[in-house]
Amino acid sequence: MNTQQISQLKWPENQLLPAIVQHAISGKVLMQAYMNPEALAQSLASKKVTFFSRSKQRLWCKGESSANFLNLVSITADCDADSLLVLALPQGPTCHLGNETCWADADKNSSQLSFLYQLEQVIKSRQHADPNSSYTASLFARGVKRMAQKVGEEGVEAALAATVGDRDELKNEAADLLFHLLVLLRSQDLDLNDVIQVLQQRHK
Ligand code: AMP
Ligand code: ZN
Ligand code: ZN
Ligand code: ZN
Repeated sequence: MNTQQISQLKWPENQLLPAIVQHAISGKVLMQAYMNPEALAQSLASKKVTFFSRSKQRLWCKGESSANFLNLVSITADCDADSLLVLALPQGPTCHLGNETCWADADKNSSQLSFLYQLEQVIKSRQHADPNSSYTASLFARGVKRMAQKVGEEGVEAALAATVGDRDELKNEAADLLFHLLVLLRSQDLDLNDVIQVLQQRHK
């Protein structure tokens, strides 16, 4: 978004547009506040999400006192240019109450799919860790054959559980399968987004 595009947004008389901040990876809605043209320009220039605080009546860089900054990924306007969607990667909890999002209870009713992305991050952090320190690290240390073997085993176990109609067992084996598949993908420098893209292309 450049200066001209900023001026073309549908700024109301008070010069404040609602800005919804969404986690750039998990898709979780983190917080909502307001931006004026200066806050928007500063967010783009500094890459730290900055609002206009209605209570402070000044520019407010989220994290300015807590250091829980929101690192900017992108800002887009909605269909009629009167609302902003901010994609960001948070440094620490976004809510000043210490929660990841300002809707701490909203997760209960929303899809838990984004947990897979969190799990991917944890797996990535173990890739070069001490093999004695974690099971995941030990899988990476033993090499692709071991990871591939686990995926095969867990796939068969999940299939067998379904065949005998053991739903609890199926849930557990499917969890094993997903976990080991994520590890195998990571070992080949692939992630869920790569797989989802293939599914999306087939869907076209
Ligand atoms: P921070 O910007 O994180 O340094 O927090 C500074 C102040 O901004 C806090 O003491 C709160 O008053 C307010 N604040 C911080 N985060 C939020 C939020 N997610 N929603 C509303 N107000 C917030
Ligand atoms: Zn709108
Ligand atoms: Zn909050
Ligand atoms: Zn298993």
